[in-house]
Amino acid sequence: MCKPTHPLAMLWITVAVLAFWHAARTEEIPAELADEMTESEPPAPTPVQAVEVVVRRGDTLSAIFKRSGLKTSATRLVRSSDAAGRLAALQPGDMLRILVNGDEMERLEYDPDPLRRLVVRRDGAGYAARWEHRPAQKQTFVASGTITHSLYRDGKAAGLPDSILAELTRLFGWDIDFSRDLRAGDTFTVVYEQHWRDERKLADGPILAAEFTNRGHSFRAFRYTTRDGRTAYFTEQGEPVQKQFSRNPVDMARISSRFSLKRWHPVLHRFRAHKGVDYAAPTGTPVRATGDGQVIYKGRKGGYGRTVILQHGKRYTTLYAHLSRYARGLRVGNRVRQGQVIGYIGSSGLATGPHLHYEFRIDGRHHDPLKVAARRGDPLPQAELRRFRAHIQPLRAELETHRHVHLARSGD
Ligand SMILES: [Zn+2]
Repeated sequence: MCKPTHPLAMLWITVAVLAFWHAARTEEIPAELADEMTESEPPAPTPVQAVEVVVRRGDTLSAIFKRSGLKTSATRLVRSSDAAGRLAALQPGDMLRILVNGDEMERLEYDPDPLRRLVVRRDGAGYAARWEHRPAQKQTFVASGTITHSLYRDGKAAGLPDSILAELTRLFGWDIDFSRDLRAGDTFTVVYEQHWRDERKLADGPILAAEFTNRGHSFRAFRYTTRDGRTAYFTEQGEPVQKQFSRNPVDMARISSRFSLKRWHPVLHRFRAHKGVDYAAPTGTPVRATGDGQVIYKGRKGGYGRTVILQHGKRYTTLYAHLSRYARGLRVGNRVRQGQVIGYIGSSGLATGPHLHYEFRIDGRHHDPLKVAARRGDPLPQAELRRFRAHIQPLRAELETHRHVHLARSGD
């Protein structure tokens, strides 16, 4: 009676089990029910399970899927929508929660920061992705202070976190050169948000409004979202704080030669116009695009040495010369963003030492880059201004109240 099972019978049993498995897997089983199901059917493994993954250094979604035993195509998923595209830029330490159904991703949650969550669901043959706001308590803070040492030191003393100080420097860096213009007695006031959840601070920022008084001249900036959803900082008059071109293509560099129509050329040993600005800095210092644009030239160019030329709109071009090398992957035709590194300081071509020679042309004619940089973009249209003024009204009041409190305090 008790004869050993025939191999064919074994195969049949295997097929039957697999068929049952398949049936169980193709049913949509919510995660919370999955545990109950395994209890009532003890031998069947959990068909749906939630996996938590912490992104490692150098991780990609493909690598994570592979590690988790998933057959889902990460490439297809990432390309399925703009929102899902965010998964192409995972950072070490980020958290992913994946609902696994067999060897397929059923649902994925990704928290790129403490305030947002990306949810991607399998949707038929494709994927549906959406952003969710993670609930947090928002608080508004105001801090103000007077410069006695440096913006960093006095900002910290006023209670400003590093990220807000960095934002503040960027914000007023369009108008104030903090490395040269800062004076003792300058004052600042910042209105900014903090986000909390369960007694824990999640994030600082953004800055809602700020004022910086530099040598008696006040600059103000207000964060504002236009009717069509564009968020930016504007002056009290509704002009964008950010300028079309940034002041300097090199951070923290010394200007070693200004724009002039006649100067002694140290290498050629004759008088020659200097149709650009020179920035002296050590070889290898990053050089940044001063405006959004497109690479129209990259290569050696006589005395200029290694050179990059960018086209900005129809009329403007900027030129960056004497580079030691170009940014990795930079090609003619590439689009670049303002502030993007395009190369590194060097002394290629006719140069006495490492420096950047930077030129600005309008319709092909040279202009002084330092004067061009002072131009602002288009102000808010009339239709938007009323709404903008109403929006900044309470923020202005906040800035003024705190400034007065501060002045009264510093007076005693
Ligand atoms: Zn030069």
